[in-house]
Amino acid sequence: MTRIARDSLSISPLESFVRDYVDARDGVWDEIEPQVYDLLMGPEMLQIAFDPEALPEHPEAQLASLGSPLFDRLLSDAARRWNSARLYRVGLNLYPHGIESRVRRAISLPVDASVRVERVRAMGFPQAVFWFKAIFSGDQKEEELLPLGMDLHYLREVRHLDALLAYDRLSDSPETYLSEARHASLPAGYRAARGHVARTVAPLANTRRREWAGRTQKQIARMSAYYAQLRVEAVARAARSSDPEAEARAASRREAIDREEALRIAELRQKSAIHVQVGLASVMIVVQPKLLIATTVTTKGQTPSRLDIVWDPLLETIEAVPCPACGQTTFAFRTSRAGLCCENCPGNSSAGRR
Ligand SMILES: [Zn+2]
Repeated sequence: MTRIARDSLSISPLESFVRDYVDARDGVWDEIEPQVYDLLMGPEMLQIAFDPEALPEHPEAQLASLGSPLFDRLLSDAARRWNSARLYRVGLNLYPHGIESRVRRAISLPVDASVRVERVRAMGFPQAVFWFKAIFSGDQKEEELLPLGMDLHYLREVRHLDALLAYDRLSDSPETYLSEARHASLPAGYRAARGHVARTVAPLANTRRREWAGRTQKQIARMSAYYAQLRVEAVARAARSSDPEAEARAASRREAIDREEALRIAELRQKSAIHVQVGLASVMIVVQPKLLIATTVTTKGQTPSRLDIVWDPLLETIEAVPCPACGQTTFAFRTSRAGLCCENCPGNSSAGRR
């Protein structure tokens, strides 16, 4: 095989995509001359050229450029084959110093209550990352890719997606094999993510609606000026004419102009209406190790309550805890005869305040 060594900077993103794609399919690529390749993938063999000027010398070669049928085919095949993945977040410290005092500092309790750490366990917490593709269409078309992460344990949005997906911190295999924490299913995560993405898409659509409506207004103004000119000409022609019917003809001509103008403006308005389509482009599960901390909260004269707390080693923080009574996440708890509840718990206004 004659492989021409080229410095990686001179390889275009399209070429490096094709090399990666063929490698990932366990195929073989051979650069027979700069920007001309022989590809072998399973039973398929083809020759491609990235440089259109190389085509006359290689009549068998297909042109690989963005938007070419060949490239569209490779790209959509890649998207279909590798549209989901499961990776592990690595490089996190699972032995933070002084976890019990961190818990005490993070969780606020009534003065007569105390929290005790019973057990600390490192577990895998699946984080589902969804890439939604939003297509905005009207008299033009724009696409936007919107990534959204959902922590499947609490079923809430991951705010620090960049840190979670840090380029060199994702691996095919975990650093240590951990049991998975209790978590919602991927479809449940998807439903929740869709709700969040709808809230993100609405302002994006509104921005475009304003921009596009501004352009439509300009087009309408130009069009109205054109029809106004036609009306002026119709009147002037009638005035010049000595034909007794001319005035009646000018009136019906003006009516026809009015009708056409109204029709064209309605068409423009309709074309500028914006349609939004949101679909899922790909999914990735990133299993992130976190610490599940089992604690008991004890108040004098009451049965101790159990409270599970999560330490996130990525952000080095205690995560907000769902209230055992109402489910809202919080760091501030009170105690009542019924057990622990949050500061804002409905119908519990006097609980724990003595
Ligand atoms: Zn509550």
